[in-house]
Parts: sequence; C-alpha cells; structure tokens
Amino acid sequence: MPRVASTEAVLTIDLPAIVANWRDLAARGAPGAVAGVVKADGYGLGAAEVGRALRAAGCRHFFVAQLAEGLALRAAIGPGPMIAVLGGFAPGEDGDAALVPVLNTLGEVAAHAAAGRASGVARRAILHVDTGMARLGLDAAELERLSADNSLLAGVDLLYVMTHLACADERTHPMNAAQAARFAAACAGLPAVRRCFANSSGMFLGPDFASDLSRPGCALYGINPTPDRPNPMRQVVRLDAPVLQTREIAPGTSVGYGASWTAERPTRVATVAVGYADGYLRSLSGRAVADFRGRTVPLIGRVSMDLTTFDVTDLPEIASGDRLTLIGGPGCTPDEIAAQAGTIGYEVLTSLGARYVRDYIRD
Ligand SMILES: *Cc1c(COP(=O)(O)O)cnc(C)c1O
Repeated sequence: MPRVASTEAVLTIDLPAIVANWRDLAARGAPGAVAGVVKADGYGLGAAEVGRALRAAGCRHFFVAQLAEGLALRAAIGPGPMIAVLGGFAPGEDGDAALVPVLNTLGEVAAHAAAGRASGVARRAILHVDTGMARLGLDAAELERLSADNSLLAGVDLLYVMTHLACADERTHPMNAAQAARFAAACAGLPAVRRCFANSSGMFLGPDFASDLSRPGCALYGINPTPDRPNPMRQVVRLDAPVLQTREIAPGTSVGYGASWTAERPTRVATVAVGYADGYLRSLSGRAVADFRGRTVPLIGRVSMDLTTFDVTDLPEIASGDRLTLIGGPGCTPDEIAAQAGTIGYEVLTSLGARYVRDYIRD
C-alpha cells in the first residue's frame, strides 16, 4: 500500500482479478489464443502494470491504439509478445520495438508490402477488413481489389485478418450474424491466414464468433460483456475517497452549485474529496450512491470539480477521515455508475483521474 494522506482518494486496482478475468476468457477462446487489449493506458488502469501482469500469466498478444502506446508497452513488458497497433503507423515508424501495424487501407497495404519487398524481409502485419463499422479497415471495394490480386500482399507477413463487431453487446442484434458472414466471405478471398475476430462481448456470442485470436478489452477490467445477463467477470477497481468534513443542515438549506438539492429534513452532509476533475462524472449529480461498509448513501447536489456531497443522515457513525467507496462497491460498480451517468463502463474507467493514489494489488 503506498503512503496515503488522509485527504487523498485511493484507487485500488486488482491485478490478480484482471489475470483471473483473462484466464476465464482464455479458456472461453480456446483453442484460439486470447489477447489483452490495453489501449488508452489499459482502459485507464495502467497499461504497463496490466501488461506485465498479463504477460506473466502467459498472454502472448497485446493490442494498443497508438504507436506511442505500443512503444511504452514494449518498454514495460520487454521482447517477445506481439504488440499490435490498431491505428497503424507509417512504414519503419515502429522505433525498432518490433510492433505490428494493423493495416487499415489498401494504401497502407501497398506501402508495407513495398517496404518488405525492398528490404527482402516480409513485414509482419494484421489486415483489418471492415464488415460494418465504417470506421477503419478495408472497405468493400478495396477488399474486392485485394481479393482479385493477392500479390498485392507480397512482402507482407500476414499474421491475421481481423474485423470488429459493431453490436456485440446486443446478443440478438442482426448485425452480429451479418458481420460474421461478411468476415467469412472476406477471408475466403484472401490467402489462408489466421483470423482475429471477437472483442469481449463477441466472445459470448457463440461458435460463429470464435477465431484464432480474440481481442477482449473491457471484460478484463470487470465491465460486463453480457449486459442483458449477470456479469461473469470479476470486479477490478475500487475508488475510496475520504470525507473531508461533515455538517448538519436545517430543512430548506440547499447544497452545492446551482442550489440544485434542498434538505427536506434535518440532514447530515458529508463532503468527499473527489470531483469531476477526477473522472467522477458531473452527470452523476443527484443520481449516484456511495458505499460505506455495505450500506448505501445517496449523492446530493452537483458533483463539483474536486468535491462531492453525500447525505449521510442515516449513518451517523460516518465522520471526517472515513472513506466512502464511490466506484466499485455495491450499487456503484463501473457499469452501474455508467448507467447513472448516461454513459458506458468503458468511459467511466478511461476517465479515472490522475490525482488518485493508485494502489496495485499484485497477489
Ligand atoms: C477496443 C477494441 C477492442 C476491445 O473491445 P472490448 O469491447 O473492450 O472488448 C477490440 N478490437 C478493437 C478493434 C478495438 O478497437
């Protein structure tokens, strides 16, 4: 446990829980391999720490979004595992860190192939075909050209063909089967190559979504990949924030900016040292709850930049210096916080602020 001042909030990140989640997913993905997606600093939890823990557990494939993330991850985990960069990069731009670009356009394929032919050594890459996101990846016309002339890939050591599901978290959405069919058709026109398909939710859609390499991210971090069913993953994060002050207010007294909440009874207010600048989203104002030793206290008024107020009238034992669990307790899991804030658990995690003392549980 790092040293913590009584006024600092502590974000506890359970690395063994992430590893246990990865092992569950690895069993689910078998006989295919299962990667760890650690883009955006490991969904806000620390890509270096998460990467080292997963690597020690046997994870051999990682995905990041950007080149700089790939370089930092390589420095953290050392040589060996594949680190693929979803956003790709210019040829030769991998800084000798042996990163693998995801090729998202035919132009990128051509440039990568030309570099490989020029050097006499085929360059490793993952080819991304779009089957329904219209975001990155070869479109239908580009795919047709490549299928008609596979020699465009000469000079590329094609590790995987990948695609990305748009609606995997909605089990019955017709996009899922449509994308699986488009992906199968796309692969049929390409050289025999391994496939890389499902994200977290896709891994729960059944055998049509299995592949040689799955790419889960959110489920590693405890976000429910099956939102219409109970969460099969372990919780990973907990945010405990100190009460700076408590006060008694009379009926009719308002609390916080905009005077948006007014006491209707004699009320005890606890002011906690976390605000929207820490990623405790302002849209939680008046909606969330915090946990104190298994009991729940409601957030009152607006979340401000550095402070948030809770009604602790019914828990008179709460005093300054006590800590409330704002994220990761009963009633305030990242998914529950997300629902209250009108967003998704991914955004709750990737918004987690820089001011927390981070306490990594390692074993
Ligand atoms: C972020 C991302 C993933 C991981 O998705 P989750 O829903 O977090 O499992 C997989 N593939 C691609 C292309 C991504 O951008």
